[in-house]
Amino acid sequence: MTIAENVANVRAKIDAAARKAGRDPGEILLVAATKMNDASRVQEAIAAGVDICGENRVQEMLEKNAQGAYEGAPLHFIGHLQKNKVKQVVGLAELIHGADSLALLETISREAIKRGIVQDVLLEVNIGAETSKSGFSPEEIPAALESAAAFGGIFVRGLMAIPPICQSPDENRPFFLEMQKLFVDNGRKKYDNVSMDFLSMGMSGDFAEAVACGANMVRVGTAIFGPRNYQ
Ligand SMILES: *Cc1c(COP(=O)(O)O)cnc(C)c1O
Repeated sequence: MTIAENVANVRAKIDAAARKAGRDPGEILLVAATKMNDASRVQEAIAAGVDICGENRVQEMLEKNAQGAYEGAPLHFIGHLQKNKVKQVVGLAELIHGADSLALLETISREAIKRGIVQDVLLEVNIGAETSKSGFSPEEIPAALESAAAFGGIFVRGLMAIPPICQSPDENRPFFLEMQKLFVDNGRKKYDNVSMDFLSMGMSGDFAEAVACGANMVRVGTAIFGPRNYQ
């Protein structure tokens, strides 16, 4: 299967899941998770019509960006962002998905203010309460939104989650549904510099379930590019 065929397949599944849930397929953004795929493969995915490129590692993103990998599509940072790498990502990535602590938000805020820009971010929710993962607990989200509103230089555009690894896609349904509820509930309250626009969840194994549960941004790697070679 070519990248173009894979993108068409993923898009067809997204559209079907959206229609089945009574949603407009046009409102769902497909983020290609491009890690470990070189610039020419990323360009193939963009030509095939992915909406956005999502990169995980800062060094890899800078190298591929210099090669023109992301030309033609917006670039998002979807990985775990270390505070000492914030400078390299702010202003380059249109949206940072994994804002997972107040300390990171504050660092992003400081860098954005220094540059006179506003950086869009998503708050990452540790929806499975996994000790191995960072992120806010659901209960911490209202306070995090309040703090974020006060920081300046950042605009919170929604929530992101990576549920626990599981055997079958429906196992993540309760987590996806809890995320949807958080997204809706926290979107009702008005905060400065917050607009609950995006719910980023769902990967190759479970993006259709995520769409059924309200995701409007899915991050798909393997189903577009094939298995990654970690050697
Ligand atoms: C790699 C990655 C994805 C995509 O994973 P696949 O299972 O290959 O689709 C999505 N989100 C994040 C944060 C990732 O790191």
